[in-house]
Amino acid sequence: MALSPTSAKSATRLLSVDEALEGILSRIRPLAPREVPLMDCVGRTLAVDVVADRDVPPFRNSAMDGYAVRGADVATAPARLKVIGAVPAGGMPDRAIAPGEAIRIMTGAPVPEGADTVVRVEDTDNADDVVTITAATRTGVAVRQAGEDLRHGTTVLTKGSLLRPAEIGVLASMGLSKPLVIARPRVAVLSTGDEVVDVAETPGPGQIRDSNRYSVGAAIWAAGCGPWLRPIVRDTPDALRAALRDALDADAVVTSGGVSVGDHDWVKPVVSEMGRIDVWAVAIRPGRPLAFGELRADGRSVPIFGLPGNPVSALLTFELFVRPALLRMSGRDKLFRPVAKATLLDPIDKPHELRFFARGIHDAAAGTVRLTGPQGSGILKSMALATCLIDLSPGRSSFAAGETVTVILTDLPEDH
Ligand code: AMP
Ligand code: MG
Repeated sequence: MALSPTSAKSATRLLSVDEALEGILSRIRPLAPREVPLMDCVGRTLAVDVVADRDVPPFRNSAMDGYAVRGADVATAPARLKVIGAVPAGGMPDRAIAPGEAIRIMTGAPVPEGADTVVRVEDTDNADDVVTITAATRTGVAVRQAGEDLRHGTTVLTKGSLLRPAEIGVLASMGLSKPLVIARPRVAVLSTGDEVVDVAETPGPGQIRDSNRYSVGAAIWAAGCGPWLRPIVRDTPDALRAALRDALDADAVVTSGGVSVGDHDWVKPVVSEMGRIDVWAVAIRPGRPLAFGELRADGRSVPIFGLPGNPVSALLTFELFVRPALLRMSGRDKLFRPVAKATLLDPIDKPHELRFFARGIHDAAAGTVRLTGPQGSGILKSMALATCLIDLSPGRSSFAAGETVTVILTDLPEDH
């Protein structure tokens, strides 16, 4: 059957942003869990609840270098106590202390029986046989209780948690050298277009450098996934077919360009042969059209996102549609960036029927937002300068300075 590059001509009904997102997310599942060495787990998602198998810290220990004492003996100062020994970190006290006695103790060392307080060395004369306590010290000071950090039997991290450095430390203190985490999605990135050349090349007449593979690849990386940059794909069905066949090794595929109504837009017809794809006219600017579907082979089904070629449209639709999908694939439970209200400083004109995402600079302290300058879908600088997206609803064609608008805080991690 001869292919023709029909694409978005067939997509007539305007889809809202939320409908498109729902259509995508309903088809995305988390990848399988696997055991991964702890140092490779940062940025991944925990696949199980983790229950503490012991107390952390495992024993009562000193928070200071000083003297372990009975609080009653140091309630007033000065006090003189007999030093009956010393215990370093990693050591064990060889006897309990009695009233009037002290043991020299180092930070992290077990607190001897009988002691309930540690007087820091700065509040003593640092003597070896009989120590003088020079500052009155409250009972219980500088003693860390067993289990005060993590209590044996309690859930210390829940399934779906993003593993940041602190969570990695918690897993380490639980002795989990290979925790069960969701696999990191490997995402193939393809740029299509006869005019597109790689960054290392000098563009000839009519050619442009490929920014999308790098910006989208970086966005995939920033979403905690592994970008897999594929060679640039020329605008022929054969080239695209071959490139997509190779990309089937990935967990997801992201293309840019070739989804619109031009004579050389092959994404829809070629993906249709290899699975299914919808090209949606989403009521959004920038970012129309957007394609989503599945490549199928050997019993596998790999989601494919066809982003528009314009650099701003590509990155913006990645942020709104692909990033949440990749986070869900990564097992995350929070998929959406924080939003805030801000006072608009610049007037904005927009297409009446479309939801317009202007690129803004948010001043959280002042509660204001201003535009990053010209907002054309080819002006990548408008995104480079941005700290937020200004989310302007359909059904209006202008917003005035001074109005309260919603901003999406794209520099902050997802909170819902
Ligand atoms: P398309 O969606 O293929 O019709 O492309 C729309 C616009 O985006 C055209 O001006 C393309 O030259 C441009 N474009 C497409 N792909 C890229 C890319 N990888 N990097 C930069 N610009 C691109
Ligand atoms: Mg193109």
